[in-house]
Formats: sequence, C-alpha cells, structure tokens
Amino acid sequence: MNKKSKLETQLMHYAEERGAYHGAIVPPIFQNSLFAFKDWEAIDEAFDDRVNHYIYSRGKNPTVKMVEEKIALMAGGERAQLFPSGMAAITASCLHFLSPNDHVIAIKNLYGPASSLLKNYLAKKMNIETTFVSGECIEDFEAAIQENTKLIYLESPSTAVFSLQDISAVAKLAKSRGIKTMIDNTWATPIFQKPLEMGIDLEIHSFTKYLGGHSDLVGGVVIGNQVEVDDIFHHEYELLGAKTAPMEAWLLLRSLRTLSMRIEKHQANGMAVAKFLEKHSKISSIQYPGLKSFPQYELGQKQMKGYTGLMSFKLKTDAIEEIKSFVNGLKIFQIGVSWGGHESLVYAPAISYLKELDEKQFKNMGISLGDIRISVGLEHVEDLINDLEVALGHIK
Ligand SMILES: *Cc1c(COP(=O)(O)O)cnc(C)c1O
Repeated sequence: MNKKSKLETQLMHYAEERGAYHGAIVPPIFQNSLFAFKDWEAIDEAFDDRVNHYIYSRGKNPTVKMVEEKIALMAGGERAQLFPSGMAAITASCLHFLSPNDHVIAIKNLYGPASSLLKNYLAKKMNIETTFVSGECIEDFEAAIQENTKLIYLESPSTAVFSLQDISAVAKLAKSRGIKTMIDNTWATPIFQKPLEMGIDLEIHSFTKYLGGHSDLVGGVVIGNQVEVDDIFHHEYELLGAKTAPMEAWLLLRSLRTLSMRIEKHQANGMAVAKFLEKHSKISSIQYPGLKSFPQYELGQKQMKGYTGLMSFKLKTDAIEEIKSFVNGLKIFQIGVSWGGHESLVYAPAISYLKELDEKQFKNMGISLGDIRISVGLEHVEDLINDLEVALGHIK
C-alpha cells in the first residue's frame, strides 16, 4: 500500500500483509506467546535487532504491530507503541522523560488519574515536582520553567473543562529551552489534530475512547519519532511488562477501519446537540470548542480540523432533586463514566464529588452541582435532542 493514498484508504489497507495469511481479508489474531526459529543463526540475528523481529509476545506481536503502523501513519509519527491502557501509555511516557528530582509543567485540568500520578505518586516516589498552570496563554508556561524542568505535559482540548493550549507555541518555547513535550490528544484524535506536526515530541491516546469507539476494549498508544518510541519499547514497555493483548489490538484494527466516518458523525451530532443546548432556557453555559461563542474558538480553528462529541454544560439549577430528575429522565443517554463510544452517555461530576466534598468546597473548586458532561454518540441526532428536551422538562 502506497503511503500517499488518502487516510480513509490507508485505514482500510495499510500495513496489512494479506499474502502472509492466505489472503484473509481480516488478519488473524496472533494469539501466541513465542516465535520459533529455523536455526541457531536465525534466532541469533533476531536478538541483534529486537525491534524488528518477533521473538516473544511481551515484546513484538504481529497483530499489535499492524495496528501500530496504521496509527503512526495516521498521526504523522515514525513509530507508535500500543499499551494495555491509556494510563499505561501516560505512565510509560512520564517515566521515559523523567528522573528523580526533575520538574514538570502540566495543565491544571489534566485528566484526573494523570494528575494524580504526578501529584501523588511520582512526587512521593521520585521527588518529581509538578507545577500546574492554566495553560491558556504561553506566558503561563514560560513563567513556570525552572532549571530542572524536563517535561511539559498538555491535554488540548482538556476533557475536564475543554480549555485549549496553543500547541505550536508551547512546542517552540519548549524546544528553545531543551524541554520535552507530550500531549494527550484523546479528544480530537489524529483525524482532527496532528500535534507531532506542530513540534510536540510524544502524542498519547486512550484508545478506549474514539479510536476504539465501540466500548468493548481498553487500551492506549504512544506515538513519536523512532528513537524515542524504540527507547520506550525497550524500557517502559518490555521491562515493566506493559504487554498489549493481541485481541485488543485486533479489535482496534477493526475500529480504525471506520474511524474517519465515526468521527465525522460524532462531529455532526455533537455540533447539533451543542447548538440546541446553547439556546435552551434551562442551561446557563456550555463548554464545546466547536461553538463560535467558545472563548478560544479562534485557537481551535487554527490547530484543529474539527470537533468531536464530548462536552459539558451547566443546568440553571442547584437543586439536587431537579438535577437528579434530569439525569434520570434521559432514556437514550446512558449514565456512565467513559466516553467516545458509539453510545451517548451522561455523567454528573456531582455524583463522585458529593461523596468527598461538601457543597462549599465544591463551589471553591469552580464546579457547580448542575455541571453535566455528555458524550454524544452515533444514534440519530433527532432522538438525542428529543431525549434532552424531555429530560430538561423535569427542571422548573
Ligand atoms: C480515559 C482517558 C485516559 C485514560 O485512559 P484509559 O484507557 O482509561 O487508561 C487518559 N486521558 C484521557 C483524556 C481520557 O479520557
């Protein structure tokens, strides 16, 4: 397959060596732990070049490799490494870049467990200090740089509050100061945003979300240049034993075939739902980077080619019974924590925060009881809007 074909074509065929498995249109799942060699010389040669040989499935596996090649091409990177979860990909990247006593700059609304990894785990185990910045202007990053700053960690759009960072500007600043950069690009996917082309060193995804898209697998991926990702393969992947299951890789390969179509549909549905909510009398505000009213709309237009289907909004009520009746009133949007799948989901941060915080602490964090997050799926958009309309009718 020619690397110059269009993306949709590549997602169907690139890296699939059908001749090697009887022309099967869908590749087999290489569900084997080891690979046998014809003689002493053959295994000897494989040991000399471990990145390019199949030896043992904690390292390379053909099903996993096929997906990695497709994702690397799609993101404009030289190499991708799959991981068994998005968090495994994030942890591996942080460990790759960081040593004890280093300093990190990250955005303050980073994905919760990633923030916890830095703040609670790496801080205690390795004395790594993190400065969390709002990240909405380049001066935030510049002011936070210290002599021992080794990494800037972005998430744009952030999946908590949907704020953006100017990716090219941060990459340029970091390069000029010898600092490495990584970005969580799970929201936009490589279909809509290509951070590696903007100068970022490593791009990571939870492929549990849009890349997988069917809510039937959990996984992560790291994409970057050959040297960087090979190093991650030899250390954080093989040594820490973060092996990706061939079955998950195979499901992801299936998912990638429809990725561009699914993402276009998430965008169309997401945009229609956002416009409906924006005008609704029971809603006080909405965070969706695709709306013209979004504070960083211009920046989004500059660095993204489109918008997906995860967004949040604020109900015009703080009465918990009304908020509950809205959430329980939804029949198509199901209640759940993840996002990016075929199905529409709703989640209210109040459900978890109310267990740990009182209402005052809650407000101090800038969260209100009426905050609602929805993941707009692939159902018919009229059904989704009707569902929201009926449930919003439960609010006085
Ligand atoms: C879900 C998620 C992750 C973590 O991915 P897992 O596959 O659940 O480990 C990381 N970043 C973002 C933005 C996510 O939404």
